Amino acid sequence: MNQKATGKRSTSLIHKLPASGLSARRILNLLKSSASTDLSFRDDSILGSMCTSPPSLASGIFSRFKDVNLGDPGLFPGSEEIEKNAVTMLGNILHGSEAAGVYVTGGTEANILAVKTALLRYLSTYPQDSIPERSSLKLIVPASAHFSFDKAAELTGVKLVKIPLDEAGRMNVALLEQAVDESCFCITAVAGTTGLGAIDPVSEISRIAVRNNIYLHVDAAFGGFVIPFMDREFIEANPFDFSVPGVCSITIDPHKMGRGVTPGGAILYRNRETAGISSMPVSYLAGGETRHLTLVGTRSGAAVLACYASMLQLGVGGYRKSTRKAMEVTRQLESRINQIYGYDTVIRPVINVVGIRPD
Ligand code: PLP
Repeated sequence: MNQKATGKRSTSLIHKLPASGLSARRILNLLKSSASTDLSFRDDSILGSMCTSPPSLASGIFSRFKDVNLGDPGLFPGSEEIEKNAVTMLGNILHGSEAAGVYVTGGTEANILAVKTALLRYLSTYPQDSIPERSSLKLIVPASAHFSFDKAAELTGVKLVKIPLDEAGRMNVALLEQAVDESCFCITAVAGTTGLGAIDPVSEISRIAVRNNIYLHVDAAFGGFVIPFMDREFIEANPFDFSVPGVCSITIDPHKMGRGVTPGGAILYRNRETAGISSMPVSYLAGGETRHLTLVGTRSGAAVLACYASMLQLGVGGYRKSTRKAMEVTRQLESRINQIYGYDTVIRPVINVVGIRPD
């Protein structure tokens, strides 16, 4: 479900650099009055959003470390060390004992990085004269995939192939099998789709990827902080992470159900070797001894430290509790929708995403 605020546009905003600076009070008043048309997590007026509001500890940390730039780790080695631990912690959640990766701006950047990595792996695996032209190289995704894959395909110049879904909103594996051939460099599965919260059959998809030596990426931007905290039977019925052998990388967004601070996404690779595929040396920072795994250069250390703080503060128990609560609310919403004449949920929600349609 998506939602839109309906307030009037403010006309008092200033759009020309003032000749001399304004007072703090005036600036605050200006911003407060203009932002008053925003919906807010604090007063429960937001229902349709994948992001969440961070706990106050994380908000405080965000403001305390606001000038930390993790794009220049030579200046901020302490924060870089914290990020490494935060990445390892995400790896633990995703059963990746050797996982490596990096915090990014969100699911979009993580998905674009995964596609870039898969493409570079493909290009370096096969002899150059056997590789089809770029526009016929296939990036296969389910029809439910987030539009960040459209962006990734446009940026890399490859062909985006969307596989139709089954009646439960999951990628149709038989159709995937038919679409796979030697020009396919990447298959993506989604664990928690944007519209319905469906979880693709990652184990079956993995078997196809492994058999054909194709890079498999899982977009768990939303589901990554939900599925691991559901009950055991649910987790066992929906394997989606590094416990599935063919999974090469996973998108997981702390700024969604991880209660991190925006911009707080992450890309995790199965191991350092896979992470290294698309890393790039940076000659002018940290004495020339650093490499970037991200698309952006300068990036917020405050967001990383705040996301890490939320994980430390909530722990497994906290995430289980919030997941249980979210599922209770989901079931209530589902039952109320089914009582409204002419409306129905698109599928029986599996996680805390509810798709609603007229009958
Ligand atoms: N992947 C999925 C499954 C999503 O639902 C979203 C956003 O809702 C994204 C990726 C993109 O995330 P972001 O908006 O943080 O770039």
